[in-house]
Amino acid sequence: MTISEILNHFDDVQTCINQTIKSYDSKYLNASEKCYFKINPPKIHDRYFSQKYTLNSVSTDEISVSTTAIAFILTDAIKRQKMITFIGNTKVISVKRMTNDEIEITTRNRGRTTINKYQCAANCLWDDKLRIDKTADINNSGPWILRYKAMLNISAPAIGLGLIPSATGILGPYGDIVNHKNGTYYLSWYPLCKLAETLNNDGRKLHSEIHNYHARIVKRILSGFPVLSEKVSSITHKKFIKNNILEMAKYIPSAEQLLKYGNSFKLSGGVILAKGSTDINDPDSYLHQRSIIGPIAYGNYVTVDTGKYCTAPLFALETADMITKIIS
Ligand SMILES: Cc1cc2nc3c(=O)[nH]c(=O)nc-3n(C[C@H](O)[C@H](O)[C@H](O)COP(=O)(O)OP(=O)(O)OC[C@H]3O[C@@H](n4cnc5c(N)ncnc54)[C@H](O)[C@@H]3O)c2cc1C
Repeated sequence: MTISEILNHFDDVQTCINQTIKSYDSKYLNASEKCYFKINPPKIHDRYFSQKYTLNSVSTDEISVSTTAIAFILTDAIKRQKMITFIGNTKVISVKRMTNDEIEITTRNRGRTTINKYQCAANCLWDDKLRIDKTADINNSGPWILRYKAMLNISAPAIGLGLIPSATGILGPYGDIVNHKNGTYYLSWYPLCKLAETLNNDGRKLHSEIHNYHARIVKRILSGFPVLSEKVSSITHKKFIKNNILEMAKYIPSAEQLLKYGNSFKLSGGVILAKGSTDINDPDSYLHQRSIIGPIAYGNYVTVDTGKYCTAPLFALETADMITKIIS
């Protein structure tokens, strides 16, 4: 795509957002109708991006959040909510939709299998959604692609807060970087960080594929010692971390500063579930049309395709409404 084709697309998206705001008499990212993007003048572009490898850049209103901070807020809220009973360390093995509309769920905890029946159940398992749906006799029409994507969290408090921009590369498998403006950074160079993919609907297997047997044991042993675990991870993945930063730095030269923080990395990652059969470098891949997402109710069983992190709160509300209807 040319720059003007990209800007035309951004313009279409902006019109769509503004029309939606108007029709709902609402706000988006806490603002009423406005301009959500601006092409960077050469002076700004050249300050942050390589002139050799990038054509141009656009400032957008996209907001980055610390998923760790949100996870803490969520888990804390769940702990304080007396109507929620949290059952940890337990794997959902299968689901059966009974003829009397009840949902029978088989789980395993420390080798012990338990079967419970519920008036209603929601499958929010993401990387195991398709497998569990199948046990409940639901066939999600596909194909679906499950990708394991790694990411680095870097603590580099001494770097000037505005030196490294938050940016996403587009028109190919690049990657993204987030400056949390508190001395911490997220970085994921897609061509290196997309570690595995499968079309066989079993996302849990991707975890074992990328963590070999011995690494899994070490990870489990260190799970109670987060600081030590972080150190071991930075040492064992030093080359991978360095290569990610160097690739990103080709496009965003200031990112090279992160190399100095060799021991302050946390390497993690997860599976991404989406409809499609080819990766993001294929312009025709269904991955680029991720809009048919959300919860679907089959009788008393709800199954959720979260789609994106940013759509999770909306779908949580929709799922709660579906559950309310089912049980009332
Ligand atoms: C590196 C990376 C970058 C990303 N970047 C973005 C981004 O920029 N923007 C964006 O919008 N989205 C992004 N995503 C996608 C986003 O993270 C996911 O869409 C979102 O986390 C899905 O939330 P969820 O609650 O559906 O699933 P999860 O957060 O994965 O929760 C599912 C839970 O179910 C548990 N579980 C699974 N199977 C079982 C089972 N059988 N029994 C018991 N428990 C089970 C899992 O352990 C997990 O705790 C990214 C993902 C990754 C990995």
